[in-house]
Amino acid sequence: MRVLVTGGAGFIGSHLCEALLAEGHEVVAVDNLLTGRLENIAHLLSHPRFRFFQQDVLEFELMPVDAIYHLASPASPVGYRRYPIETLVVNSLGTLRLLEGAKEYGARFVFASTSEIYGDPLVHPQSEEYFGNVNPVGPRSCYDEGKRFGEAATMEFVREYGVDARIARIFNTYGPRMDPHDGRVVPNFIMRALLDEPLEIYGDGRQTRSLCFVSDMVAGLRLLMERDGLAGTVVNLGNPDERTVLDLAELIRRLTGSSAPLVFLPPRPDDPGRRCPDIRRARELLGWEPLVPLEAGLVETIAYFRDVVAQIAVRDE
Ligand code: NAD
Ligand code: UDP
Repeated sequence: MRVLVTGGAGFIGSHLCEALLAEGHEVVAVDNLLTGRLENIAHLLSHPRFRFFQQDVLEFELMPVDAIYHLASPASPVGYRRYPIETLVVNSLGTLRLLEGAKEYGARFVFASTSEIYGDPLVHPQSEEYFGNVNPVGPRSCYDEGKRFGEAATMEFVREYGVDARIARIFNTYGPRMDPHDGRVVPNFIMRALLDEPLEIYGDGRQTRSLCFVSDMVAGLRLLMERDGLAGTVVNLGNPDERTVLDLAELIRRLTGSSAPLVFLPPRPDDPGRRCPDIRRARELLGWEPLVPLEAGLVETIAYFRDVVAQIAVRDE
């Protein structure tokens, strides 16, 4: 199959490209490197079945493909605050354009949505039936509402044109190749622990997140694409192992052997208080559930960031 991955030079996208190539697919990746990094796919560039276009999804000339994963979008709160308009555009106009491509070429389509469409949730854990609690004008809304628009667009292309499109609501995902400077909790805590700098906790640290290792996420995305008969399906993908931010900080300190202190800063506005996926639907429809325990995933991620820190040290010498 020929597969298009938008956001292919990003964190999840690069792992997805790698997995698709390993399965024998031809992979076309498009990425404007807004928040992604060429080094994530440097090892793939010479692969005979891999093609990379450094372009915006709105400029990229669509070509016949069998499947489209639309992952292009800033994803971290720091990233989408830095690029709010770009975030709105890629999830709205970008999604519409790629859906047009899916319609034209009869390609299957997976839209990378997010647990953020549940906002600061009032029900717990979050199942796909929950409509969410989103502040439409707050600092996170460019992302949350952008993704909600993307979901609505995807569903209309299923209903109006019979496009075989599916929606993945991705919960917090971590692993090697996360950008050390994108401000997300895992890279922030690991980098600071390794550098013996204070780990900054926003608020009291009792807010929760449920972290999914990237290989599990890629497996879930692929199953969502590859299973037949799932047009119009919306599925949560995430690991229901829920932890407080404070527990995560302690765990990372222990696994890195760091004695960096914890400091408490004011909470971020509209920061969701609790987040945990209900993954019953993914279990039933995809036979999927996460396999990598948090500690094992963090150990692998810490090894990656140790290399990042070592490279920074060499560069600064
Ligand atoms: P990432 O920032 O590493 O990857 C996104 C990629 O999209 C980047 O390489 C960026 O350069 C590219 N991009 C952005 N705008 C583009 C445009 N207009 N044209 C072409 N490329 C563009 O983020 P990620 O964590 O890999 O996230 C991938 C997708 O998964 C995103 O859609 C994100 O919203 C979704 N998601 C991720 C998480 C997570 O925890 N990682 C959680 C929920 C949803
Ligand atoms: N967080 C924190 N310190 C950091 C980075 C994040 O306390 O250095 C908290 C943040 O306030 C949120 C959680 O960790 O409650 C997850 O934040 P992240 O930016 O990774 O993603 P989010 O799930 O909010 O999109």
